[in-house]
Amino acid sequence: MDQHPDYDHLQQAAKDHLWMHFTRHSTYDTSDVPIIVRGEGAYIYDAKGKRYLDGLGGLFVNQLGHGRTELAEAAAKQAASMAFHPLWSYAHPTAIELAERVADYAPGDLNRVFFTTGGGEAVESAWKLAKQYFKLTGQPTKHKVISRAIAYHGTPQGALSITGIPGMKAPFEPLVPSTFRVPNTNFYRAPVHEDDEEAFGLWAANRIAEAIEFEGPDTVAAVFLEPVQNSGGCFPPPPGYFQRVREICDEYDVLLVSDEVICAFGRLGHMFAAERYGYQPDIITCAKGITSGYAPLGAMIASDRLMEPFLQGHNSFMHGYTWGGHPVATAVGLANLDVFEKENILDHVRSNEDGFRATLERLTDLPIVGDVRGAGYFYGIELVKDKGTKETFNDAEAEKLLRGFLSKALYDEGLYCRADDRGDPVVQLAPPLICDQSHFDEIEQILRVVLDKAYTLL
Ligand code: PLP
Repeated sequence: MDQHPDYDHLQQAAKDHLWMHFTRHSTYDTSDVPIIVRGEGAYIYDAKGKRYLDGLGGLFVNQLGHGRTELAEAAAKQAASMAFHPLWSYAHPTAIELAERVADYAPGDLNRVFFTTGGGEAVESAWKLAKQYFKLTGQPTKHKVISRAIAYHGTPQGALSITGIPGMKAPFEPLVPSTFRVPNTNFYRAPVHEDDEEAFGLWAANRIAEAIEFEGPDTVAAVFLEPVQNSGGCFPPPPGYFQRVREICDEYDVLLVSDEVICAFGRLGHMFAAERYGYQPDIITCAKGITSGYAPLGAMIASDRLMEPFLQGHNSFMHGYTWGGHPVATAVGLANLDVFEKENILDHVRSNEDGFRATLERLTDLPIVGDVRGAGYFYGIELVKDKGTKETFNDAEAEKLLRGFLSKALYDEGLYCRADDRGDPVVQLAPPLICDQSHFDEIEQILRVVLDKAYTLL
């Protein structure tokens, strides 16, 4: 494919007018803004016509791959028949049908679907629901939230307060008060029980009970946890972790919120990841894969018990968004689920995930690769200075390695993914769920070349 006919103008206009998210704009004083113009299957193409393997599914979003005309047509059909009506005391068919189907997939009695436009809003909605629910049910002091170190839960000020990454919060302090952090499940750097994953998991879960005790059980409303924590580089739950967390939440009457903004909709081979790890949340928050990225949509899925007080008398959940459950987005959500079912996407992930893991694990022969961890089609590769001691990079080295070299080098070699240092430096991978061994091999080959070069630079 040729360069985009309007390339020079797009470049200049991007630099002059487009404020990109989480972006160091000064980088583009001396380089071009990467402009992505189209996608096809597992690949995206930039405005110069170059092809890249979409190793991050956009941003953990694109489950079905690019160029799915079924999803585009569902959007067009809905926009033509009824572009918009809000869910404020009214309903429309695609939101109703998607709520029904999502509730059907969600575990246990998670039958009540509150649509948002994205993940941060879903997290925000879950915290607000927890607070109002306890006010309505005679425990008005329950309002605090426990979450984990380095976890990312979104950018609205409530969700950001729940987030456990100090550097992302500092510019906006003071944030919403009343959130508290406990250790995550980074077994590679386990501070205790480093040879016994189950014992480590139990220890980590018990820190939640301890935090609830420290704060006072009658002040704590909810615990927010991702099934596999993304930020920090894919921390799966140790065996038994969520079972112990569930016990703790039951003991203290604290709601367990499973933040599945990344992990739901097939990323881990199940519609919802709680199912994979065998626990029953009180709320699931989701977004991203619910439309495979063909329209923006998020959802908070709550249990029947949590909706119960809102079905009485004059009560209502004092919360909503104009665009939440947009008819076009919910129509796309339905078409997305149709493809999941028709093409057995969940089975495909389950039968290929071992291959993905084994392929990435080949990289552990490189001196810079400390750990390969994750599940399903969701992996993090932790980079270290010294494999034997697990010594990580200092700030200057991480800056040089990740920002100065890795992100760009991977991209130049044809792999779009993310080098992240919100915790220890990791390369994050979450390719479309349609990928197979040929894509895994391509990912591994590019990573091998670039990581090898990265080590020699140090
Ligand atoms: N929660 C988790 C676990 C996430 O990974 C993200 C985004 O990556 C969010 C919440 C925020 O979602 P959004 O960017 O759609 O607001």
